[in-house]
Amino acid sequence: MLMIDLIAKKRDKNELSKEEISFMIEEYVKGTIPDYQMSAMCMAILLNGMTDEEIVNLTLAMMNSGETIDLSEIDGVKVDKHSTGGVGDKTSLVLCPMVAACGLKVAKMSGRGLGHTGGTLDKLESFKGYNVSISDKRFIENVNKIGISITGQTAEIDPADKKMYALRDVTGTVPSIPLIVSSIMSKKLAAGADIIVLDVKCGSGSFMKDIDQATELADKMVTIGRSAGKKCAAIITDMDQPLGYAIGNALEVKEAISVLRGDVKGDLLDLCLTIGSKMLVMSELAKDEVEAGIMLTRTITDGTALKKLAELVEYQDGDSEAVYDISRLPEAELKIDVISPREGFVKRIHAEQMGLIAMKLGGGRRTKEDIIDYSVGIVLNKKVGDEIKAGDVLATVHAGSKEQGEDACKEILSCFEIAEIAVEKPEFIKKIL
Ligand code: URA
Repeated sequence: MLMIDLIAKKRDKNELSKEEISFMIEEYVKGTIPDYQMSAMCMAILLNGMTDEEIVNLTLAMMNSGETIDLSEIDGVKVDKHSTGGVGDKTSLVLCPMVAACGLKVAKMSGRGLGHTGGTLDKLESFKGYNVSISDKRFIENVNKIGISITGQTAEIDPADKKMYALRDVTGTVPSIPLIVSSIMSKKLAAGADIIVLDVKCGSGSFMKDIDQATELADKMVTIGRSAGKKCAAIITDMDQPLGYAIGNALEVKEAISVLRGDVKGDLLDLCLTIGSKMLVMSELAKDEVEAGIMLTRTITDGTALKKLAELVEYQDGDSEAVYDISRLPEAELKIDVISPREGFVKRIHAEQMGLIAMKLGGGRRTKEDIIDYSVGIVLNKKVGDEIKAGDVLATVHAGSKEQGEDACKEILSCFEIAEIAVEKPEFIKKIL
């Protein structure tokens, strides 16, 4: 079999067989198929699509390219979630402690941020000492002891996705439904949880720009998850503005802590209650979503979710006291307010641009090798639908230098679209599948 023939087949809109897909993935991981041929294949897939059968075969070939995790030594129902990538998305930091405090087992392997989207591991590393590379043995022991562990995916899991994702990131081939489905589901199936809830982002700050695309993506992922014997659900949520208020690692950790303390309500908490309820009902720990909502809300009012976050950090060698004393978390040198020059109503906040500004401040990576500054980022003071007066603070930039901070302020101002007439607050949860 020759890769050039497979590329030509896909270029000409023909269907690849299971054997051809397995060959392509195995040889690419071995290094006998070069990046330039795989790039051409990814572009052909992006342009011409794949049938459902091809997507299933690609997902399974990628999953089988490495180890699969055996979570059978963990008692209880193991849950996992995955977001398709957004700006200000700190959902796992809030949701995972909440559901673990309800008795679900969270054995989660997370990723780092790249480009304009953030990653859970970088956020957790804002806690001094937090170890994202604990051994599989310790990972399982921690989940058995405290019900939760969040660590990095080891090199042995889904090496095909690691290579392909890095390649797609620099060849303009990320926003392809077959490639996103196979990338996410191969990792999730390899990670071994019983229940998977997918948070599919939809809007300007995400890869899926409209609801039809997002629904197609969600549908395909849920179908593959269920056909692999998992309980699987998806929620489509708005990414036309950043999620919550903070963008940037330690800033997002601080926001997550405020939500877990019960100090902040809004889209982030709503999302965690929705995903968490799905998990509790699917695992039969709650009889319906009303009961699940009560159980989850109680973890905030009685402090058990916050305590669970502190345990997670402690068991992974991090400074858990920072959960109760946020002054121990990284803090930027400089804070500069972005002031509205006029009155009106916030119509849009360009999420992708905001993510890129936070990255340029040092909060994200342009390349995998970049070292990030955990303290920097942006905190929004206004969200879509809010009324503003001239002179109001729209956002605050947390920067490492005056020059970077001032540049960011100018760019942030151009991310806010201000309307003269009232704007309705957008529906945050768009669909549940
Ligand atoms: N997240 C992933 O893990 N893979 C993709 O392809 C896109 C988002």
